[in-house]
Amino acid sequence: MAESAELTEEPTEELTERHGGTGEAPPELPGLADRVAAFVAEHVIPHENVLDAGGPPADAVLREVRARARREGLWALPLPAELGGQGLCLERYAAFAEAEGASDHGPAALGSAPLLDVLMLRRHGTARVREAYLTGLVAGDLRTCYAMTEPDVPGTDPFLTATRATREPDGSWRLTGRKWFTSGAGGADLVTVLARTDGAPPDRDGLTLFLVPTASPGFRLVRELPVLGASGQWEIAFDGVRVPADHLVGGRGGALAVAGERLQLGRTLRCLRWLGQAQRAFDLMAARAVARTGSRGPLASHQLVQRHVFESLLALRTTRPLVREAVARLAAGEDAHVEVGLAKVAAARTLQQVVDAAIQVHGAAGLGPDTALPALLRTGRAARILDGPDESHITSVARRVLRGYA
Ligand SMILES: Cc1cc2nc3c(=O)[nH]c(=O)nc-3n(C[C@H](O)[C@H](O)[C@H](O)COP(=O)(O)OP(=O)(O)OC[C@H]3O[C@@H](n4cnc5c(N)ncnc54)[C@H](O)[C@@H]3O)c2cc1C
Repeated sequence: MAESAELTEEPTEELTERHGGTGEAPPELPGLADRVAAFVAEHVIPHENVLDAGGPPADAVLREVRARARREGLWALPLPAELGGQGLCLERYAAFAEAEGASDHGPAALGSAPLLDVLMLRRHGTARVREAYLTGLVAGDLRTCYAMTEPDVPGTDPFLTATRATREPDGSWRLTGRKWFTSGAGGADLVTVLARTDGAPPDRDGLTLFLVPTASPGFRLVRELPVLGASGQWEIAFDGVRVPADHLVGGRGGALAVAGERLQLGRTLRCLRWLGQAQRAFDLMAARAVARTGSRGPLASHQLVQRHVFESLLALRTTRPLVREAVARLAAGEDAHVEVGLAKVAAARTLQQVVDAAIQVHGAAGLGPDTALPALLRTGRAARILDGPDESHITSVARRVLRGYA
């Protein structure tokens, strides 16, 4: 998702009610975190290699795992109840989002993946859009993706967006431009696109979000963009795609407010998932350190190995409260720009650091095909760029804090 921290400078409205399902407090589901953790460990992680590779085999596995999640009552836990989800509020979802996110594929397997799109469309979509797509998204019958970043302008500067939408005499819009690193575009039914409808770059106004069915004439998958060897990212083109007038999201010129709102929650959810993956790497490291023994005893007896364990634990334990603070502020509907920025940078760094330490302790095995560590390292490296690179968040948080001293 694209991701200027600058976007978060835009004023956003109250967020509380949108953030988790219905916003009502549903009854506690007993042992939910344990059940989700067990589900991911038993039914998602063993299939990661197939899921990472994508294509029809991955789709078949995902269908099977999702059917099991439904049978076990674990489907779409944080999605709004009136649309077919289970309506858990953000704070309750956060309690097991780490366990769900221990695998990159957990949210898709358990039906949480469309949460951002569903909340965005429920709040900012037109009646026609809500009626046509929301239940299909929650049911997992429709897939969406989100396209802001473009090949020819910096993703950190959305005011330069070159994709253009022009009004047709019948009120519809014609969309022309190119996006890249659009996650999941290859299998998506719908894409939310940032385009300029008014003014010219670098105007701050005049940007609009469109919801575009990928079956529309003129929509094109240009190429897949493997990230450190993994599938899932795409370059896409809009060659004069006609978009109905009622497929604007947040109205004409409303893109930055909607995107800013979405990014706050999106970044926080990613932080939770990255923490889950960092914990997974930590567990692998600790188990390896204890189990692998040389003539002087187990690896765990070396002080420099203990240091890897200590530094990793420190990173995890100092990051988790930052992420929880971001969750709490969003759930309370309070301004969370600083908290989300801190959490995002910390969680991305922590994932990268802990996975790197775990690889070091594994030796060559950490780089080979027998553990998830190479995939986790890939996610950790990408985490420092996607949803806004570290530098954007550092600058944005520092500027906000310094304002209080001016
Ligand atoms: C795995 C992955 C998935 C992604 N998924 C999506 C998606 O689904 N949808 C989508 O729209 N995009 C997606 N992206 C794109 C991502 O959001 C952008 O890469 C990101 O916003 C940065 O934009 P850019 O790549 O154009 O970098 P640029 O804007 O060109 O920036 C390049 C570098 O310049 C430096 N820099 C930039 N701004 C500043 C600053 N203010 N201060 C100091 N240094 C700075 C940073 O080091 C930065 O990394 C994805 C990217 C990856 C890697």
